Order: sequence, then structure tokens, then C-alpha cells
Amino acid sequence: MSLIYKRPANWPDLTHFLYDYYGEIAPFSRRIDRKAVFLPLIFFKTIEWSIYRWYKTPIRRFYGVKGNELIYMITNRCHDRCPKCGIWEHPEPACQHLPVADFLKCLQRLHENLYQVTLTGGEPLTYFEDVLLIAQEAKKLDVPMVMVTSGVLLNERFLKIYKELEHTLVVSVDTLDKERWEIFRGRKHFDLVMRNIRLARTMLGQRFRIQSVLAKETEADIPKINAFCEELSIPHTVQPYMDFGGQWHSAGDVPPVDYPCAARKNICIYPNGDVVKCFDHRRIPLAREPLGNIRNEDIIQILCKKRATEVSRIMKSCNFPCKQLSCNKPPAAFKQ
Ligand code: SF4
Ligand code: SF4
Repeated sequence: MSLIYKRPANWPDLTHFLYDYYGEIAPFSRRIDRKAVFLPLIFFKTIEWSIYRWYKTPIRRFYGVKGNELIYMITNRCHDRCPKCGIWEHPEPACQHLPVADFLKCLQRLHENLYQVTLTGGEPLTYFEDVLLIAQEAKKLDVPMVMVTSGVLLNERFLKIYKELEHTLVVSVDTLDKERWEIFRGRKHFDLVMRNIRLARTMLGQRFRIQSVLAKETEADIPKINAFCEELSIPHTVQPYMDFGGQWHSAGDVPPVDYPCAARKNICIYPNGDVVKCFDHRRIPLAREPLGNIRNEDIIQILCKKRATEVSRIMKSCNFPCKQLSCNKPPAAFKQ
């Protein structure tokens, strides 16, 4: 009786610990190739899990060496008008756009913990010079960068610098049919983007990728894009459609996955500098409000807040469809 009354109402139950343990051990065990060392490695991993489970320093979730991805949605602005995406409908006012110096400071503070910095949007190249500054700083700090772009604003000067910096570029392509392109992108720039794609392939080689969204609207297009990529030896990734305010429809149920959402390794920055743990944070009641803003707070202080640790813990057993996005998969589960 006394035990029941002493137990705090929000104390996690046994199934939570089991799920937590399984979520840590299952992906780890799949990476062990040599059967002879399987049990000793599981034993040591269990000790490590126990230490991190019970020894609660707030910093631990975020500062594994090269264990985190910093994702910067540099802007909501975009020249395209894709019906799959509602982001372009809400461009941030100029006065709310984060000065690039604040993001560079954030990158410098976190770089030892980052295995990658990703730039997305909106269209990142709307802030062409800022992107170059970030790419140069990332190179200096030895953090690989990936940028996802519509491909419209690419040019030779950018690709030349980007190639020297050895970063990775991803262009979104959802069809290779010129008429459908105009419907999918709301703009008539099929020829321009295809020319830029060929130029990027020539200049960046395997550091250039194409990414497509699988939706009901693109089901017939994906195999053609895949064949095109194979012909040009361009790595091709396919993401399931997620509703970010767009008008497309999911291609069907995405099969469930048995690993915890890896978004908790992510640190996401909005165009105004707000910090969240994943771009779908509004689904998690405790994470609805941003954790802070890097315009006026230090990123490490933001990530060390108690709420940041709590949100990270909740994310481990979070199970929404957004878990299927490549940026939310553990590297071991993400096959290109
Ligand atoms: S999907 Fe990409 S290219 Fe299309 S409007 Fe949205 S941000 Fe722009
Ligand atoms: S499942 Fe979605 S909402 Fe939950 S942590 Fe992962 S990305 Fe965030």
C-alpha cells in the first residue's frame, strides 16, 4: 500500500524500461557480425545502458561524440508552389529571419557532437551567401553537410565551391514528365532543373543525390525516376509522403518499424532560431513549445533544460508515422 502511494503518478512503468532496453539493444545487436563476441558485447552494452538509464546528467542525451544531427530549416521561403508542401505559404518576415552569425555560433558550439549538419527549407538557396558561409564553417569544423534543394537556384559557382568543400547535395524530383512537373512544382522550370541536375552529377559525382516523395500522386513516377538515376549512377532515396500542410495523399500504410524513433538524436532549428527536437514536435504535448531560441540563448543551455531531457526521453517510445522519414531513422536502419 505504502509503495503505491509513494510512487509518483508520472513514474514510468516496467514496460517502459523493457521497451527502452529493447530499443537500445535490438539495433545494436543487429550490427554485431561476429557471433563469438555477441554475448560479451551485449553484456557491455547492457552495462552502458544501465549507467545511462540511472545516471541522469541532462547533457548525456545530446553530447555523444559525433552522435547528433543538426537540422536547420533556414527559411520557409520558396519560389516554387508545390501542392505537396504548405511551407511556402508562410514565409517568415525578414525581421524574424535568424541572422547567419547566430547559426554559425550554434554550429561552433555543437560541432564536436555532430555527425552531420543538414540544411533544408523552404528553399535554402534563397539565402545563397549564407548557405556558402555555413558550408565553409562546417568544413572548417569537420562536420559533413547535406543540403536539400529544389535545384532551381543551383549554378556553376555554387557547385564549384560546394565540391571543394566535399559536402553532399540532394535535389527533390517527383516526376520526369514535363507537364506533370508543372503541376507538381507550380512553375515551368523542368528544363532548367534537369540541366542543373546533370551539371551537379558531373561536378559532385557520388556526393549528389536525388530524393523523391512517394505519394498516391507519384506512384507511377517513382520507378521512372529510379531508372533515370540508375542510368546516371545517381543515388536515389524515396521518402513516404508526410502531411506538412500539403494537398497530396499517402500512398498507403507504411509498415511499422521495430526501432525507437531516432529523431531524438536531432537538434532542429527553425528559420527564426527556435529550437525543437523534431519537426513534428507538436504531436508531443510536452514538446509543443520550442525549447528556446538561439538568437538570445546559448544552444547548450537550451539542450540542457530539464524539459529537453524529458522530451528526448518521451521521443524514445514515440511512434507516429514521421518516424519513417530518413532523418528520423537510426543510421543502421537507413539504407539508401
Ligand atoms: S516542396 Fe520544396 S520546392 Fe516545393 S514549395 Fe516546398 S520547399 Fe519549395
Ligand atoms: S515519431 Fe515523429 S513526433 Fe515522434 S519523435 Fe519521431 S519524428 Fe518526432
